[in-house]
Order: sequence, then C-alpha cells, then structure tokens
Amino acid sequence: MKKIQMVDLKGQYNDIKTIVNDSIQEVLENSAFINGPKVHEFQKELENYLGVKHVIPCANGTDALQIAMMGLGLKPGDEVITADFTFAATVEVIALLQLTPVLVDVNADDFNINIEAIKKAITPKTKAIVPVHLFGQCANMDAVMEIANEHNLFVIEDNAQAIGANYTNKNGETVKAGTIGHVGATSFFPSKNLGCYGDGGAIFTNNDDLAHTIRGIVNHGMYKRYHHDVVGVNSRLDSIQAAVLNAKLPNLDKYNEARQNAASKYDEAFSGNEVVVTPYRNEQDHVFHQYTLKITNGKRDALVKHLNDNSIPCGVYYPIPLHKQKAYTDERYVESEFKVTNQLVEEVISLPMHTELDDEQIAHITSTIINFLNE
Ligand SMILES: *Cc1c(COP(=O)(O)O)cnc(C)c1O
Repeated sequence: MKKIQMVDLKGQYNDIKTIVNDSIQEVLENSAFINGPKVHEFQKELENYLGVKHVIPCANGTDALQIAMMGLGLKPGDEVITADFTFAATVEVIALLQLTPVLVDVNADDFNINIEAIKKAITPKTKAIVPVHLFGQCANMDAVMEIANEHNLFVIEDNAQAIGANYTNKNGETVKAGTIGHVGATSFFPSKNLGCYGDGGAIFTNNDDLAHTIRGIVNHGMYKRYHHDVVGVNSRLDSIQAAVLNAKLPNLDKYNEARQNAASKYDEAFSGNEVVVTPYRNEQDHVFHQYTLKITNGKRDALVKHLNDNSIPCGVYYPIPLHKQKAYTDERYVESEFKVTNQLVEEVISLPMHTELDDEQIAHITSTIINFLNE
C-alpha cells in the first residue's frame, strides 16, 4: 500500500509534471517574475471558470480577506459577523483592521454559519457578514444575502475551502462559490483544492468600482504610478505561482470529483455505524476540502491517538472555538450561545483527503477506525 498522507502533493505533481515544469520554465525564460503575463493569463482563466467579472490575484488568502474588507471601506468600530468555527485568518483580519469581530455559532450538521445566530447578532453597528464555506460546502447564501439586503450589509465570502463548488440559489441559478456575495476571497495554499507551490490568493467581485479600488489597494494604493490615493498593501501573486495555477486550473473539476469519490467511499464504509457521523450534505455541492467526521461516543481523542500510533494521519479542525482563543475573547460573548461549536471541537476529526487517495488506503483507514471504535 502507498504511504497514507493527509495531503499527497507529490503524487498529484507526478501526474502533471511536464505541464507544470514547462509552465514554470516559461516564467524563468522570460523572467517576468512579478506581474508577468502568466499572472494576467491566470486571472482571465479564473474569471472564465468562475463566471465572475473580476479576479484580483494577491499574495495569500488572508490578504485576500483583508483587502476585500479594505476595499469595502469598512471603518474601525464597524461590526463584522463571522463564524466561530473556522480558521483564525477569517477573524484575524477583522481585528487587524480594528473592526469588531462578532463571532456566532454554526450549524451542527453542515458546520456553516447559523442564520438565526446572525440575525440575533445584528446591531446598528453591523456592517458586514463573512460566511465561510467550511470544508468545501457552501453556507446558506440565499439566507445570508437576504439578511444583508434587509440590513444593508456587505457580504464577504471566505471561499478558501470551497473553490469550484457550485451553488444553486433559490431561483434555480447555479453559480460558483465565492461569486455570490459583494466580494469573495480565496487561498491557493498548497493543500487547498486549487493549490499553488507556495502562497497565493485571489479576490473576486462582479462590481467594477470595487474591483478598481481593490486593484489599487493590492499595489500600495496606486492607481497611477507613484500616486498613492489610498493606503494600500503590497500583495502580489508571483508569476511562478501563477504558472503552477495555470497548469492546474483545467484539472480543478477533476480534482474535486476525485475528492467527492473518496468521500463516497468513506461514507459507504461508515454507513450504519452508530458512533460515526459522516459529513452532512446540504442542498449544495460539497468539494471536500476536508472529510470531517463527528465521533459521538467521547472517544475522539483516543481515536486520534490510535490513528497516530498506526501511522494514519488525521487532523482536528478546529480544536478550540475562536471565541475561546486568547486573542479573540470578548466579554460580550455568552457561552450558552456557542453550544454547537463548543461541542464540535470535542467531536470532529478530519481524515486524509486529497486527489490521490486509492481504494486500498481508504479501506485501511476505515477498517482501522471501525475496529477501534468497536473494541
Ligand atoms: C486557508 C484559509 C485561509 C487563509 O489562507 P492563506 O492563504 O493561508 O492565508 C482563510 N480562511 C480559511 C477558511 C482558510 O481555510
């Protein structure tokens, strides 16, 4: 059996080696390392793929979120509602910009931001909502957009984990995750569904004015060379990363299908097990950035240890709710309002998930888990 890895980047690379190498070689030969033609090419290809008017590449997913918020003109003291159960980057940039993060509970089934909790958290200071499409499945964007319209709020989608996922809205139109809100942000960190070989990110929007503003912000607030109209940052996708992404984007749907197939095989192996809750599918696509189980008999930590002892990698995303992280505690938070996240951190475990998983590996992983839980 091939060695089981949480993410198998080498295996995936071997499959596309010539294309990736040629694409990188081109950058080396023309030596346009910053803002070269590869970056522009990737921007256009991604705009086409997503069906969005503007893609603005940047240095990483965290920057993408920060720049999106800067572009919307959010001001210190503005409240931004986001999910308590996500990677810290989402809340970090809110705090960095001196906006006020307002963390809210998530759904016990799909782990995404809870709509009733959003409604309850809205105050006259609320300016934006940041739904996170966690683990590869869209939050309830119809409901989020409805609340946003009603209260005049911006919606910034954190699409770092769901690139390529389709969202079918209540009118029956299918669009890509990250293109529904006023602005979307994604990451091309190597292990993401569309990953480069270093850091990378992008911002998406259909709004021409916002796209223009953001294009200046990523480049030191310049709209005309050496004229700095707004405070900006330096956040660029470098040409070598764009070359990798250009080579990989045509495979994204295939990669997401490989993840979905692996997920179905995991599901099948666990079906009927009373302790293991397999990932819930809401009405939307799930592109399985992570395959995350709930272990309901209190043995999650013991299972993590057992898998480690048996050389099967796994992860606990996330072990501590954001509202309990030292940097993000706030005396306004009431524990009883975080019932779901407080429980999820005790129950979740993510299994190896990538495009190269084979049947033998899945059978070994699932039988090891089932045997342990049946002991
Ligand atoms: C990965 C990730 C980010 C940050 O992306 P980086 O490219 O690592 O900065 C933000 N939000 C979520 C939900 C993520 O998973």
